[in-house]
Amino acid sequence: MMKSFRQIRDTLVLNRDMMPVSMLPPTSVNWQTAIKAVFLEQAQVVHEYQDWDVHSPSTTLKVPSVIMVRDYVHFEKVIPWNESFLHLRDDYTCQYCLRVFPESHLTQDHVVPRKFGGRTSYENIVSACGPCNHKRGHNIKIQPHRAPYRPSYWELVKKGKTLPLVIPDRSWVDYLDWPEENLFVRGEDKKVVRMKLAA
Ligand SMILES: [Zn+2]
Repeated sequence: MMKSFRQIRDTLVLNRDMMPVSMLPPTSVNWQTAIKAVFLEQAQVVHEYQDWDVHSPSTTLKVPSVIMVRDYVHFEKVIPWNESFLHLRDDYTCQYCLRVFPESHLTQDHVVPRKFGGRTSYENIVSACGPCNHKRGHNIKIQPHRAPYRPSYWELVKKGKTLPLVIPDRSWVDYLDWPEENLFVRGEDKKVVRMKLAA
């Protein structure tokens, strides 16, 4: 399955600097992993869900919504090959007809076709709509509007923040630095987020 830069799990993971370890997507783990990391003292709880407990025969625990790692994580800010990141780099715009499409309507187009030795990499692939990709075929006289390139981590973070993000708990808001108009707390309406930010 393709890893989306908006894939979100239960518990946000902060680095020692109180920033998410990565922002593509904001680093998160499922609640079982979070509780285990706290139990093993690999992380400490920063916030808990107010309305989510888990029960074992001997105890009741609140599920952490935000944890912080014990040891600083040195995160290599290199963007791995991923089609989702490609379309984000190209602003969901077909690089031939320059129309904007939903991600699901976009394809990868090898600028130097594979049959001519073109590689599957950011330096050789652009986003294309299905019809343009089909029309182009192996005709290398048709060139994309913008030459393909390897995007930087920060470029993609900046572009990612122009898109909506749904988070599972409002305790995340303060750590994401995400534009408030694009941030939604699951189960709450947008107004609640605004009030939280204004407080
Ligand atoms: Zn097109």
